[in-house]
Amino acid sequence: MLKKYKADFHIHTCLSPCAELDMTPRRIIGRAMERSLDIIAITDHNAAENVFAANRIESSVTIIPGMEITTSEEAHVIALMPDIDSLMELRSIVKESMPAIITEKLAFEQVIVNENDEVEGFIKELLINATSLEAERVVKIIHQYGGIAIAAHVDRDVYSILTQLGFIPDDMDFDALEISFRTSHDEAETILQPYRRYPWIKSSDAHHLVDIGRCYTEFLIKEPTFEEIMLALQGKEGREVIWHG
Ligand SMILES: [Zn+2]
Ligand SMILES: [Zn+2]
Repeated sequence: MLKKYKADFHIHTCLSPCAELDMTPRRIIGRAMERSLDIIAITDHNAAENVFAANRIESSVTIIPGMEITTSEEAHVIALMPDIDSLMELRSIVKESMPAIITEKLAFEQVIVNENDEVEGFIKELLINATSLEAERVVKIIHQYGGIAIAAHVDRDVYSILTQLGFIPDDMDFDALEISFRTSHDEAETILQPYRRYPWIKSSDAHHLVDIGRCYTEFLIKEPTFEEIMLALQGKEGREVIWHG
């Protein structure tokens, strides 16, 4: 039987330089449960090391391993991956494609933590930089490893595929467009009308605990799994994406 599941597919941990230090996987999952979310994705900038801790925490929330990749055009693309192994394959490609700007004095620490909120280490390369991978290539690589490619916050006036390219090319094979909390359903229908060929989702892009679940997407699926989410995005077998503005 199909059931509605609430999902927030864009959450940063303390590994992202722009996220608060209390964004540990344990606290994120606690907050997701308070907000009655069934599925969340951990999506740090160009990195994924805190997904291991998130995966080790027992809870009712399904964790999708993910990453927010900065393309060479400075557009953000969300990758949702079927498992940690495929995410780490993607992470190593992203790492090789980033400028090795190592600084001992980052404005914000990029912290790797374990499942008990203990510091395991730091990443010294600045993670927010653009990779040398073009958007089209990023989408192809995500698909090559079995993942879902989502154009992040297409309604934002920075770092979106629309601001960086001016339009979404017809052959750009995104699985969904993400709309931020800033834009209502009605506004999106006007602004993004040319891009109705893609499913639309809403995610919080949380950098603080209070942001988690400030907007979300419901999926009409059989169970909260990566495979079922993929079917919903493809509109197959009665699965649906239910987007509330
Ligand atoms: Zn972003
Ligand atoms: Zn983000």
